This record gives sequence, structure tokens and C-alpha cells, in this order.
Amino acid sequence: MQILLTFDYELYFGDHTGTVEKCMLGPTRMLMEMAERQGVRLCQFVDVGFLIRLEAERKRHPALEKDYLAVCDQLHLLSKNGHDLQLHIHPHWEDSYYDGTRWICVTNRYKLDDFSDAEIEEIVQRYKDKLEVFTDVGKITAFRAGGWCIQPFQRLRAPLWRAGIRIDSSVFPNGHYESELYRYDFRGVPLKGSWPFDEDPCIEKQDGPFTEIPISSIFNSPLFYWRLFLLGRLNPYRHKPLGDGIPVPAPGQRFRLLTRWTHNTVSVDGYNASLLWRALRQQIRAGHEHMVIIGHPKALSRYGLATLERFIAAVKNKHPFITFRELKTGQS
Ligand SMILES: [Zn+2]
Repeated sequence: MQILLTFDYELYFGDHTGTVEKCMLGPTRMLMEMAERQGVRLCQFVDVGFLIRLEAERKRHPALEKDYLAVCDQLHLLSKNGHDLQLHIHPHWEDSYYDGTRWICVTNRYKLDDFSDAEIEEIVQRYKDKLEVFTDVGKITAFRAGGWCIQPFQRLRAPLWRAGIRIDSSVFPNGHYESELYRYDFRGVPLKGSWPFDEDPCIEKQDGPFTEIPISSIFNSPLFYWRLFLLGRLNPYRHKPLGDGIPVPAPGQRFRLLTRWTHNTVSVDGYNASLLWRALRQQIRAGHEHMVIIGHPKALSRYGLATLERFIAAVKNKHPFITFRELKTGQS
């Protein structure tokens, strides 16, 4: 089993985005130190739209200059230390702005499919070019859609291909969600560690030009989420996210988690990290070749980081931690 440790490197997207220091830089520094101690590499899915918006807004608001330079420095450092930088797109940054005191997220166009064909082409290429400043040319081959919005894929297919994307890692088996802003439905996808696809990442197509490396998923009881929410209240120092923003409300999501069994991503965010061992056993039993763990620096807790480090130390000799760059695609 090869394990990919992936992080979505981003702010929050609602009324309270949090700060660059607390949501991105600080937790990522802690992750890099941990990775250094353990001798493993991370895959950062970089929210390039934010970086581009930050670069533009700092010209009107010099206070942002510091954030922009610090994020650039961190991306250079990640790359220099052998961590993987891959493409994550939240296109609502095209419409969002800084008002002099805080970020105003305009989310009417939350997913790429909300844009025209020409705009999608231009956004994907521009974001990829920007990320390439921090990494070797040709190394960006993997994509994760913001908010899991990889469906419908038809209009994203050609622009992503032209930008050099060959791997998608947006799907998590059996996940589904629907709100006014966005929806995804990953029920019925192949239950494999990876599969080739062409027009739809949820459907395996032999000899398809793309490879889906899904985020691993786990089936969870409501009891787990009661514990997760309670621990955050009882011991905030250890269990509260390090990020200082507030997630966009996902209507009905908390109620769903607390009242029924649900399929969720294998994650290191907060208390989810306690499930890593169970998730690994499950992946081994299923015969998968990869386990893809997702995390968000902003949602990492002290507990999550410590638990992740224990997990890595316990399993790394048997199950190597790799990056997308090292991955050989075309197998399951
Ligand atoms: Zn994201």
C-alpha cells in the first residue's frame, strides 16, 4: 500500500476567511516540521486562485504584501524540500476581493462549471502557469476540484488535459451532497485504489487518458461525530482547528452526520485523524494499492497533527508515503 498525504492549502471561504498566518502558513510550518522528522513528503493542493487574487489586491492594499510574499516563500520552500505542489481550483476568487479590512467571498460562481468554456480554459491555464513558478515545469499533473465539484466533467476535460493534468483526486467513493451552491455524487464509483477514465471521473474507461486516484473514504457512525463535536467543546486547545476562520455553512450536513451513518473522506482534520488505522486496515482488506488521505492546514488540530505523526511512525516502514510525482499511473 502506498499512502498519499494530501492537503488543500487554502483559507476558509465564507464571511470569516481567517488569516493567512493561522489558516495556511502556521499549520503548514508544523506539518513540514513533522514531515521532516518522519522523513515523508506531503502533497499540497494549492488554491492558486487565492494566490492570484492576493497578488492583484496587494497593489491596492499594501497591507497584503506581507501575506503574498510569505505564501510565495512557503511554496518555494515546500517545493525545495521535495513536497509536491498540485493544482486546486476554487474559481470564486475570480469574483472575490479585499475590502481593506477583510476578504469578501463572492460565491455565485463557486465551481468551474459556472463559467463559460473560454473562461474555464483561461482560468485553468493561468492558475497552472502561476503554480509552475514554484515547481519544475511539467510536474503539475494532478488536480483536485474545489468543493469536490468535478461534476459535470465534460467542459473541464479538454482544458485540464491541455494544462498537463493527467490525474484527478476529487472523488471520494460513495460521498454525496447537494446544496444550492454545489453538488457532488460519488455513489456507484468503482471501489478501487485508482482507475482510468475519460469523460467522467466516476466511470472507469479502459485506456482512458486520465487516472482517478480517489480520496479514500470511510463509513462512519453518528456516534463518531457526536464525539468529534463534543471534544471540540471540552478541550478546544487540543481539538479546535488551528485556522481562525469559519467554514461556509453546508446546510443539513451537520444534522446528517449526527443522525445517520455516512461516507466521508479519510481525513486528518481534527478528530478524524483517530480513524487512520481503521481506514488503513480497510484499504488493505479491499486490496487497494493506494490510500489517499486528505487534510486542510486550516482544519488541522494539535490532536490531529500528533495523531498523524504517530500513524506515520507506526506504518511508514511497511507502507511508503509517496507523492503524485512518484506515482505510476495506469494500475488499480
Ligand atoms: Zn479547497
